Amino acid sequence: MSSDDEFYSEDVEDDTSEFDSDTENVETEDQDEDVVRVLTYSDIREVMNEKIEEVREILEVNNGVCRVLLQKYSWDKTILLEKFYEDPNFIVNSKIALRASDSSESSNGECDICCDTAPLVGLSCNHTACKECWRAYLTEKINEKKCEIQCMASDCELIIDDDKIQEYLSSDTTVISAFQQLTVDEYVETNHFLTQCSCGMVVKSSRSDAHLVVCSCGIRFCFSCRNDSHEPVNCRLLKLWEKKCVGVKNKTAASADGYSSDKETFNWILSNTKDCPKCVTSIEKNGGCNRITCRSKTCRFEFCWLCMREWSVHGYSSCNTFNAKDEKNRVDSRAELHRFLFFYNRFKSHEQSLELEKKLVKTVNAKMEEMQQKGIGWADVLFLRKSVNILAECRRTLMFTYIFAFYLERNNQAIMFDGNQKDLEMAVEQLSGLLEQEMETNDLRVLIQKTQDKSRYVEYRRKVLLDHCTEGMEQDAWVYNA
Ligand SMILES: [Zn+2]
Ligand SMILES: [Zn+2]
Ligand SMILES: [Zn+2]
Ligand SMILES: [Zn+2]
Ligand SMILES: [Zn+2]
Ligand SMILES: [Zn+2]
Repeated sequence: MSSDDEFYSEDVEDDTSEFDSDTENVETEDQDEDVVRVLTYSDIREVMNEKIEEVREILEVNNGVCRVLLQKYSWDKTILLEKFYEDPNFIVNSKIALRASDSSESSNGECDICCDTAPLVGLSCNHTACKECWRAYLTEKINEKKCEIQCMASDCELIIDDDKIQEYLSSDTTVISAFQQLTVDEYVETNHFLTQCSCGMVVKSSRSDAHLVVCSCGIRFCFSCRNDSHEPVNCRLLKLWEKKCVGVKNKTAASADGYSSDKETFNWILSNTKDCPKCVTSIEKNGGCNRITCRSKTCRFEFCWLCMREWSVHGYSSCNTFNAKDEKNRVDSRAELHRFLFFYNRFKSHEQSLELEKKLVKTVNAKMEEMQQKGIGWADVLFLRKSVNILAECRRTLMFTYIFAFYLERNNQAIMFDGNQKDLEMAVEQLSGLLEQEMETNDLRVLIQKTQDKSRYVEYRRKVLLDHCTEGMEQDAWVYNA
């Protein structure tokens, strides 16, 4: 961390009191999510105005110039004032068009831009144009999402301050509010303790690193990269993975005939339908569980959707680890691709399962109603719904373990990770199988007991895996190959 960063963090941390205490506090039941505050546009506007107020009297310039200057110094008042006291010509050297030195407002003349004769207005640099040309120019810049806008003259670096911008746009309230929104967005972008939810609200956390937060709209996301939760993968590897997926997809789609088998592999991974490895009956996956039974009455072969091997084999040999030895005869570049496809297949399959398991909400709700009618206690009934959430949470973690594993160099810790991943995978499939296939039972007490046992076990497996990952991060035990 540079000294600047340190200074900045302290400054912001001191400012926690600046937000009104009546802003919404979102309490989260989950312990890995921090308690955050959700702020509206006007909450932030208010804080910005307070900060502007604090420096305005010292700098003796208008609010708009203060806003531009504060933004330039990442809203760090101390650094801004230090610079101001160091340099007697600070304001002039900051290259912001000042209102004070504006001259000859509204004198008639020929506009350099549109050549009409009209009242010309301009900045302290003496570059002038008609009001209509200023309006068109500013609107264009604001549509380009710029909020530090330079003078219209191409060789002039003077920045136009907020007050001036609003004056030139006076008739155009929608563009003015778009501009104000941009200044707020920029403030949020600069503040390491704020991040914007996709609903438009701003979430304030007490930490600036990557962690899960929940907005008051219910959306849960990574504070740092704004994606949905992606443990145990860090934001950087997730970004690399997404790029990799796009790259491989484009490459295989464009590849010559010699590599068409890769294209087929890709389509096979993304397909919902695969052939039974024993009798070749085509089987559509309509639930999340990856333990598949062939639908042919004469076959009934049980196999794993991920590796297509007989299910019983999973008891003692694992399906989650990539065996490089099997690939030793392949050409290097293709071995790399096959390694990627191995992990991609598992990532995608679990993603598919997560989607299919959403159907469980409906069946579970029906079962819950039945339970209530039969006089089963509400806490037990509620647990059924909770188990669906647990399944989704654990399935999601499982998905991302395959990205983690893809980037992991082999060492003893990685072998331990494989073991944890396998245990989590087995536990997830068991809970999924239970919720998908055993809901029909009339023995409700047994169902509740089984669901509770399996849910707790899968939660435990997730915790073991994630704790091991966190520990490894703290001890620098993970070596990534990217
Ligand atoms: Zn003009
Ligand atoms: Zn100029
Ligand atoms: Zn939100
Ligand atoms: Zn992230
Ligand atoms: Zn079959
Ligand atoms: Zn398998």
